[in-house]
Amino acid sequence: MQKTAQLALIIPCYNEEEILNSSITKLNKILASLIKQNLISSDSRIVLVNDGSKDKTWEIIENAHKKHPHITGICLSRNFGHQEALLAGLYNTKADIYITLDADLQDDPSVIKNMIKEYYNGYEIVYGVRKKRTTDTFFKRNSALLFYKIMKILGVELVANHADFRLLSSRAVETMSTFKEKNLFLRAVVPLVGYKSTNVYYDRLERTAGTTKYPLKKMILFALKGISSFSAVPLHLITLSGALISLLSFFLMIWTFIAYINDSTIVGWASLMSAITFFSGITILFMGIIGEYIASIFIEVKNRPLYIIDKVLK
Ligand code: UDP
Ligand code: MG
Repeated sequence: MQKTAQLALIIPCYNEEEILNSSITKLNKILASLIKQNLISSDSRIVLVNDGSKDKTWEIIENAHKKHPHITGICLSRNFGHQEALLAGLYNTKADIYITLDADLQDDPSVIKNMIKEYYNGYEIVYGVRKKRTTDTFFKRNSALLFYKIMKILGVELVANHADFRLLSSRAVETMSTFKEKNLFLRAVVPLVGYKSTNVYYDRLERTAGTTKYPLKKMILFALKGISSFSAVPLHLITLSGALISLLSFFLMIWTFIAYINDSTIVGWASLMSAITFFSGITILFMGIIGEYIASIFIEVKNRPLYIIDKVLK
């Protein structure tokens, strides 16, 4: 049996005063029971990341830290967003394994135990995947499905029905930190890290207090960020449509010319038509070519690692 791992629970908190105390109580119980079962070491921690809350969230975190030394806090200077808060927690905490979850505990914390067991089975990334999306509204369920479909078409690999509830080994976190892009869409980055990974399944619970910090506007921006930071396919589409339109305009020009010869046009029509079709095609095609260069700049500036080594035989 390997040594018991030190666990850090990373929890981003934005205006969570209504629910945070009850979440802390529940997490304390879970942590204590995991320590008792010898699944994690006794120096395991809960790290609460305050993402620029405007309410009493940080005071609650400070008080919890005074009462329970295993609870620590990181306070960001302003609201950066959920993904950024997660990264701040992951990159500024030392542990053997990390589990990220939401402050409202909608992601059933009782499956944490299964995640840790999978870690001991040799998996370095364990995704929490929702069994069904019954607690979601019709809209949220279907918009999520559509999003997964679009991402798949655009060539971005995502684990369906998985949000940011996951276990990462310290090595996986270290590797993740070599992804230098600023537009980090964690759900798509984590699969790129590679290593042995598996899923655990759970039912997502309702939020018991407070309101969602992800209103529709934020959800749409989040989805757009996911697409634009991961896929250059929309840029390639411009080139493709430019080429197609150029081809079409070529046929239109021939047709215009024939109409002109047959004398069935008014003066000036043929030359105007030819110019419009020719230049529209060329414009879009050239835009596409610029897009292709932007696409390669886009890939270059991300400065992602060229390779990630899993094992070396010595
Ligand atoms: N959150 C955050 N910064 C933000 C928005 C949200 O840290 O700008 C946190 C929030 O406190 C919660 C998690 O991200 O712990 C998920 O938010 P929420 O539960 O409101 O989203 P939903 O479950 O409704 O999608
Ligand atoms: Mg929630």
